[in-house]
Amino acid sequence: MHKILLSLALCLFVAAASAQQQPDFSKVEIKVTKVAGTVYMLQGMGGNIGVSAGDDGILIVDDQYAPLADKIKAALKGITDKPVKFVLNTHWHFDHTGGNPYFGETAPIIAHENVRKRLQSGGNITFLKMEVPPASKAALPVVTFEDKVTVHFNGEDIRAIHFPKGHTDGDIVVFFPQSNVVHMGDDFFAGMFPFVDLESGGSVKGLIEDIAQIIPMLPPDVKVIPGHGPLATLDDLKKFEAMLRGASAAVAAAMKQGKTLDQMKQEKVLANFADWGKGFLNSDLFTEILYNDLSGKKTGAFLKHN
Ligand SMILES: [Zn+2]
Repeated sequence: MHKILLSLALCLFVAAASAQQQPDFSKVEIKVTKVAGTVYMLQGMGGNIGVSAGDDGILIVDDQYAPLADKIKAALKGITDKPVKFVLNTHWHFDHTGGNPYFGETAPIIAHENVRKRLQSGGNITFLKMEVPPASKAALPVVTFEDKVTVHFNGEDIRAIHFPKGHTDGDIVVFFPQSNVVHMGDDFFAGMFPFVDLESGGSVKGLIEDIAQIIPMLPPDVKVIPGHGPLATLDDLKKFEAMLRGASAAVAAAMKQGKTLDQMKQEKVLANFADWGKGFLNSDLFTEILYNDLSGKKTGAFLKHN
């Protein structure tokens, strides 16, 4: 009963908070992909879930939305009957942490300390027209860290490393060195412009610096799980970094010429990167994120959007 109420409350919250129609979770199917070694990827709605499955049980990286928890559990059962022993949150956003109250019932949730802080306080994601209320105690990470933590599990040294000021100020990247897999969280949107949450301490400049630091840490044949988008390669991550640098430079150059945001949109300053605008964000919205970031605005302008 408790679960049903919670789930209902969260559904209502999503419905109330979102300007769009509430997503129809009943139609969502969880797709399971074996990535390499002990690691799997689950895709449903929201952020991609990374899974380590083996003799020790299951560790999941992110848990999407609360109404999908039963489907996610069923998908995990298809991999192994063993229980979920650990949950890692890559950052605080609701499409990555919604299942926390469910998976946190039996497994400690581990995250960067800013994830717990932001879940505890709630906050605005103006870009999505959302006011996120403070999370329930059951949704909060119980183990937090500042820089890095290692979970020794399924013969793997699963390393979660915090990179400052990327997609938010609480993002971790999770390395599975023995399986040769990395889960980038929302520091990587595969093949599309990323949402960078300036209000939650994110920054495009910081994101570029983080990715430049991560790339040399990865073997050439590593499998890369992005926060959103299909399973990717190191080459895809390098292209993403190049796009971020190019797009950022294009907006910076236009700002130097004294152009307004509207002019930049009209003149399509990101025309060279048009293909990246077919996913989560179109070119205009990413231009706006870059403009706001480079001009030091952390909030506000997104409200005007549909
Ligand atoms: Zn996110």
